[in-house]
Amino acid sequence: MKLRILAKNYNVVFKDSIDLSSEHDENAIIYGRCNVLINEISINNELDVQELRITLMHEVLHAIYDQFDDALFYDEEHISKLSVALTQILIDNNQFRSLYIESKHTHSLKD
Ligand SMILES: [Zn+2]
Repeated sequence: MKLRILAKNYNVVFKDSIDLSSEHDENAIIYGRCNVLINEISINNELDVQELRITLMHEVLHAIYDQFDDALFYDEEHISKLSVALTQILIDNNQFRSLYIESKHTHSLKD
C-alpha cells in the first residue's frame, strides 16, 4: 500500500515479527516502524484489525512530526494516545469519515 503523507510518499509494508525485532531487545514485540530515511512504514503482519488501525495511525503521526521537524516525533506517549483517539473517532463517525473522502457529503453535516 502507498500513502501520501503531506509532502512524502510512503510505502506501507507488512513484515513478520522476526524482521521487525529490535537489535537492542530481540524479545520486544514491535508493532510497527516508521523509517523516515527511506519513507517506509512497516507493520507487524500478526496484528488484529484494531491493532493494525492504531499502529498504522501511530506510524503516520511519526511521519507527520518528522516533516514538521517537531520534537513530538520522539514522544511515544503523546503519539500513542493520539493514534488511539484519532482511530476511534474515525471508527465512531461515518459522517466524519465521508466528509474527508467525498466532498458531496458535506451537506449532510447540517442534518
Ligand atoms: Zn512510535
